[in-house]
Amino acid sequence: MSRLLCDSMLGHLARWLRLLGYDAPQPKRLPAQAAPGEALLTRRRAWQGRPGVVFILHDLMEDQLRQVLCELELTPDPSRFFSRCLDCNVPVQPLAREHAAGRVPDYILDTAEGFTHCPSCGKVFWPGSHGKRAQERLTAMLGQTQSGVSGA
Ligand SMILES: [Zn+2]
Repeated sequence: MSRLLCDSMLGHLARWLRLLGYDAPQPKRLPAQAAPGEALLTRRRAWQGRPGVVFILHDLMEDQLRQVLCELELTPDPSRFFSRCLDCNVPVQPLAREHAAGRVPDYILDTAEGFTHCPSCGKVFWPGSHGKRAQERLTAMLGQTQSGVSGA
């Protein structure tokens, strides 16, 4: 599965899929049919049962994310985490330290291991820039996903 198209009601889910490294665009309108390698994620009940459609059952993002990973049999790859801009869905690119100067706080410039940036919106990221809380939430969610799979 290479692309996970999210409908307009699934903005929060789309951001978390991007955080995991998945290509998760959120077009203004979903196409009527999924192309090969695509899944259409939607909360529209009328679409339930269509080929290539994941009808999202849950209100809470954590539950939605678990449902998508389970139904599409996706196993998140930690090496791809934080590899996309959460806003733009564009893969981030490495940024040399000298180019990060002036775009991040000085203490970050001196201490961060490395930088990436979004070629679309220009945001600069570094390890930890998404926040400890995001990391913890991620670990908690994926832990539950794995135990859910093994218990099934
Ligand atoms: Zn961006």
